[in-house]
Amino acid sequence: MNAKANSLYISTILTPPQSPTTPQKHECAICKVSYKTKLGLTRHKNIIQKYNVQERLYTLPSEAISDFKAHLVYIIQSKLKGHFSQSGRQTISFPCLESLFFGVFKGYIHHYNYRSGNYKCLFQGPDTYTQVSNLFGNSNWGRKFFDNNQQTYIILFDARAEVEANQEDIFDSYGKKIPKNRLKKFKLPKLIVEWKYRRTNDAKDNKTSAAHLVYIIQSKLKGHFSQSGRQTISFPCLESLFFGVFKGYIHHYNYRSGNYKCLFQGPDTYTQVSNLFGNSNWGRKFFDNNQQTYIILFDARAEVEANQEDIFDSYGKKIPKNRLKKFKLPKLIVEWKYRRTNDAKDNKTSADYRYRYRFIKYIRFRSFLE
Ligand SMILES: [Zn+2]
Repeated sequence: MNAKANSLYISTILTPPQSPTTPQKHECAICKVSYKTKLGLTRHKNIIQKYNVQERLYTLPSEAISDFKAHLVYIIQSKLKGHFSQSGRQTISFPCLESLFFGVFKGYIHHYNYRSGNYKCLFQGPDTYTQVSNLFGNSNWGRKFFDNNQQTYIILFDARAEVEANQEDIFDSYGKKIPKNRLKKFKLPKLIVEWKYRRTNDAKDNKTSAAHLVYIIQSKLKGHFSQSGRQTISFPCLESLFFGVFKGYIHHYNYRSGNYKCLFQGPDTYTQVSNLFGNSNWGRKFFDNNQQTYIILFDARAEVEANQEDIFDSYGKKIPKNRLKKFKLPKLIVEWKYRRTNDAKDNKTSADYRYRYRFIKYIRFRSFLE
């Protein structure tokens, strides 16, 4: 694998619905591309079928897939606002493992680029909302209720626009033919789900992307002194993925809130985390100008200072030891937290949603010129 990571893009249109329409001959119902012959359409469908089989990917447990579906619903819902100003096309993008994406969307992949490794799913047409509801196992995936009896929802079908886009000949009031705008078909309301590799701009390709987490951490490493000091990264993450990576290193767990905390500090910590991630460059980044940025998890001088028992000034007067120093030593804190939605009508589904976020904090993160 190259130094690549990945992002899931979801874009859709929020507009009001109408009623059904008739399909066209040899037209792909999903992407709306027309073929001259039936064979052309069949060939298109056969190619698509192959996109939905990816044997090189490992199969995740069904629990992880259903967790991720609930997680996706949460992310989509968090974008639904109770304001007209927020209507129209919306795009959501967030880091996502390929195997998770594939686990959820296989069977619905409509484009795959063998060279770039990017995927695309299209959902449009009168039955699409229900289709996606079945896929996510949640009929409220595209609806959100607000206190003032308002409701915001995702539209995947607009019958009037559909009729207009499909009509063959348009004539104005003088009987003059108006050229049909084929683009209209491609502008119909739909849900597009894309999964894309994203390249890092790490000059030395040190195979960082093998681990998704390493990519996310590295993307935060900048080659500027202004960026040194404590850094925090936070991104959506499934509990099962967090636990799968960090089990054995969890140092706090709150049974009530369900939050976890891991602490990494001390002279051997960098190596420990390298073993955990299977990548010794997880906290280093190389830049073109021979600069290097890296994460510091141990500072010997600060450690000695924090551990000394008695401090006396030049007059022999005891200076009270600042116990806080110990807690301010460089370290890596990895937290995984639940985050609740503010959906007003708790529409019975909230138990299924696992709104959880992990926060990664680096303490001390310095840049050095070589
Ligand atoms: Zn198609």
